[in-house]
Amino acid sequence: MYDVIIIGSGPAGLSAAVYAARAGLRFAVIEKEYMGTGQIAYTERVDNYLGYYGTDGFSLGEKFREHAEMLGTEFIECEVTGLSAFSGGWRIETSDGDIIKSKTVIYAAGAAPKKLGIPGEAEFAGRGVSYCALCDGEFFREKNIAVIGGGDTALSDALYLAKMAEKVYVVHRRDSFRANNSLTEKVSECKNVEFVLNAVPVEITGDEAVTGLKVKQNGAERAIEADGIFAAVGSVPNTAILKEIAELDENGYVIADERCITSANGLFAAGDVRTKEVRQVITAAADGANAVVSAEKYLNKYI
Ligand SMILES: Cc1cc2nc3c(=O)[nH]c(=O)nc-3n(C[C@H](O)[C@H](O)[C@H](O)COP(=O)(O)OP(=O)(O)OC[C@H]3O[C@@H](n4cnc5c(N)ncnc54)[C@H](O)[C@@H]3O)c2cc1C
Repeated sequence: MYDVIIIGSGPAGLSAAVYAARAGLRFAVIEKEYMGTGQIAYTERVDNYLGYYGTDGFSLGEKFREHAEMLGTEFIECEVTGLSAFSGGWRIETSDGDIIKSKTVIYAAGAAPKKLGIPGEAEFAGRGVSYCALCDGEFFREKNIAVIGGGDTALSDALYLAKMAEKVYVVHRRDSFRANNSLTEKVSECKNVEFVLNAVPVEITGDEAVTGLKVKQNGAERAIEADGIFAAVGSVPNTAILKEIAELDENGYVIADERCITSANGLFAAGDVRTKEVRQVITAAADGANAVVSAEKYLNKYI
């Protein structure tokens, strides 16, 4: 039986692997993608991970994986399809039909941004279409940007982007925002922000890269000139298999603070899957470390 099974080899899972190895635990990482390193592998440039300015996401993920491999991490390639607790541990069901037993589980299966589902979105992903203002905003300095969404994330993205962009359009399908009032007020005070309300995005246009967004506003079509489209319509945590197991918030994130302790004994949630303010590589990596420390304490106390 393992001391710790880590589910997911994104930044949170690989950081957990490094800490588990250093702690001398018997552990393995289960990842469903071949040599997967999580969401970061899909971005062309990462400027905000300490020590790696200007790297591409794929190379950064490779570095993380190499580090974990160097310390002897065992990787199991398959999808975790179910989890159940028994006295003294967890049964982990896999897509290969195996049952793996472990005293604790660190769940680091990540989240995925919700897609707009309109023409041009997939075509221009990474060429003007972004799901992360903190990550990609800097690439649109002094350019025109459209932020799509009406919640806190969309409005805080708009506020952040307004500091660097020439112009920011906030495109929302309703006539008022869901975001909190003070945030909405702050954004409305920005001189370079224009609200485009009652507007549903219908197409992202461009040639080599994005050049604009077509919306349907009050029944008429309108074209907005933009170099960057930031979709902020929510994200979906990969927590379907935890529904009956641990407490989730209304959006499906596992309820856990920075110690990564969940409502289920011996189950720890690290990275984008858990309730937190900032979902980034650096916070995911920090969670990996904290989750292992919490798992170790649990093992010492109860098992
Ligand atoms: C386009 C884009 C650009 C970004 N740019 C930046 C940036 O510039 N800087 C930054 O700091 N952050 C950036 N982020 C955010 C960053 O990628 C995430 O915060 C970070 O990857 C979260 O790490 P994680 O380990 O929690 O989850 P993830 O990276 O999502 O990794 C989860 C892993 O778990 C695996 N998995 C899921 N379910 C299962 C299962 N059932 N069984 C087995 N394996 C499973 C997945 O295949 C995946 O490999 C970006 C995100 C996106 C989408």
